[in-house]
Amino acid sequence: MKLIVDCDTGIDDALALIYLLTSMDATQHGLAGIPGAADSSNPVDLIGVTASFGNTTARQSARNSLDLLDLFGHSDVPVFLGHEHALGARSFEVSPGSAFIHGLNGVGDVELPHSAREVEKMPADEFFIESARRYGSDLTILSTGSFTSLAAAITRAPEAMAKLGRIVMMGCALTVPGSVNAWTEANVSQDPESADTVLRSGLPLVIVGRDVTAVTHLATDVPLRWKESGSRIGLLLGQMVAFYQRAYAVNFPALHGCFLPDPLAMAITLDESLVTNWLSRDLCIELDGPTRGRTIANRDNLFQHSSTRVALDYQRDLFLKRFLSLMDAQIHRDSSVD
Ligand code: CA
Repeated sequence: MKLIVDCDTGIDDALALIYLLTSMDATQHGLAGIPGAADSSNPVDLIGVTASFGNTTARQSARNSLDLLDLFGHSDVPVFLGHEHALGARSFEVSPGSAFIHGLNGVGDVELPHSAREVEKMPADEFFIESARRYGSDLTILSTGSFTSLAAAITRAPEAMAKLGRIVMMGCALTVPGSVNAWTEANVSQDPESADTVLRSGLPLVIVGRDVTAVTHLATDVPLRWKESGSRIGLLLGQMVAFYQRAYAVNFPALHGCFLPDPLAMAITLDESLVTNWLSRDLCIELDGPTRGRTIANRDNLFQHSSTRVALDYQRDLFLKRFLSLMDAQIHRDSSVD
C-alpha cells in the first residue's frame, strides 16, 4: 500500500506518525511482539507527508514532520507543503484553543532535533494528483488535519483523484457532539467547505470521526512512566503527551488522561479489521445557518450505494494495546542504543 499522510502536526499527529513509522519498521524487520502492518504481503510504503494547517500553521506542521521523520530514521520520506489557509479565507492564525492544547510549536513546546531538510518544491495538492495517477487503487491518503489541499486536488483533477484507493478522514461527528461546539468537529471547522467537497466527491472514504475518537483514553500515568524511562525518546514523548494531557485536565477534567484521535485513525488505516461497526452512508457538511459545520447524511444520496464508510465502534482494548507496545518499542530501542 502506498500511503500519504496529510497532517497538521500537532501532538496527536506526531503520535500517529510515530505509530506508523514503528509499525513499518516492525513489518520490515519482523520485530517480535511488535504489531506491524496487518497485511504484511502488501507492506506500507510511506511515499510522502503533506502539511496542512489546524493545530498549527502548515509551515510549522511541515517543520515538525521533517524533524520527526528524521528523528525516527525515515529521512527518505519527502514532505510537501499544503494550503496555508481555508479556500474561502485570506489567512490562518492558530486559535488560542489549539495553542493551549498543542503548544506554540505544535508539539507541546518540546524541542525536537532540527532536521536540515526542507519541503519539496511541489505543493501538496499536486503531489496528491500525481500519486493518484501513478499508483491508482494502491494509494491511500490519510488526512488528520484540515481538508483544504485534498479538496483542491479533487476540484482540480477529479478524474485523476478518482483512481485512488481510499481516503481516510480523521474528522466529522455524526452520532455524537462535536469538539469545537455541540455539532462541529475540529478538523471540519478549519474549512467546512473543503470538508464538504471531499465528502461529496464520491471517492471511497473512510471516516474516523468523533464517533470513535472520543472513547479511548490514555491515562495520565503513561507519560510519567515514559519520562522516567531513562530514554531520550521516552523523555520527549512523555513531555509531549504530558503537555497535551494538561489541556485535557482543563477541558475534560473527569477524563484523567487524553483521547488519541490521530493515532486511532492511523491504526484503522493500517488495519480496518479494528472497526467492529461500520455505517455505510454518504455524508455532507451543513454550510449555512446556525449549525454550520455539522456532519449530516447527504439527503440527495440516501437511497443509493454509498462509497463512504463511517466507523462507529472498534476494538478499543486492542487499539490501546497496539499503541502502547509501539510507543514502548521506540522508547526501549532508544534506551538500548544509549
Ligand atoms: Ca491532527
